[in-house]
Amino acid sequence: MEIHRTSSNYRPYPPPRKNVLLLSCMDLRLIDDLVPFMEGDNLSNRYDQLVFAGAALGVIQQDHESWYDVFFQHLDIAVQLHQIQDVYLMEHRDCGAYAKFLGESGKYGDSPAELRREEADHRRFAFQLKDEIAAHCARKIAEGGDPEAWDVHVRCFLMDLRGSVTWLKDDGSDEPF
Ligand SMILES: [Zn+2]
Repeated sequence: MEIHRTSSNYRPYPPPRKNVLLLSCMDLRLIDDLVPFMEGDNLSNRYDQLVFAGAALGVIQQDHESWYDVFFQHLDIAVQLHQIQDVYLMEHRDCGAYAKFLGESGKYGDSPAELRREEADHRRFAFQLKDEIAAHCARKIAEGGDPEAWDVHVRCFLMDLRGSVTWLKDDGSDEPF
C-alpha cells in the first residue's frame, strides 16, 4: 500500500503516540527523503535514527555479525532514554547493500516481476527483524523489565528512489503475489 509522503489522510495506520526509533539504510540518495516522511507522521524531533547499510538486512546479515548486537544495544538505549514505543524499519529499492550481502540475487531490474521479487525480499528480511525485535522485547519483560516500556511495535516500509513509501502491512494483505 503506497502512502503519501506528507498528508496524514493517506497514512493508513494509526500515528505513533510516543517516540520512534527509525532504522534506515545509509543510501545517500534517500537521506533527505526520510525527513519529510517522518514529519508526515508528526515525528519531527521525536525519533532516534540508526543507519545500517541494508537497513533490516544489515542488522541480520552474517558478514558483520557485530552489527546485530550494535542494533539491539542501541534499541535498548532508545527504550531507556527516549521511551520509544514504535520502531520503523525503512527498507529501500535499488539497495546496494542487498547486492553486497546477497550477491546476484540481491540485484533487481525494473520489470514488474523484478519489482515484486525485490519487494518480497525486503518484506522477508524486515519481518524477520521485526520478529527478532518482538522476541527481544519479550525477553526483557521476562527478565523483569517494565512491560509498558518494552511494549514496542514495529512497522515495515519500503521506499522507492523518488522517496515514495509503501507500507509493508503486517497481515501481508498488500502482498503482490
Ligand atoms: Zn541501501
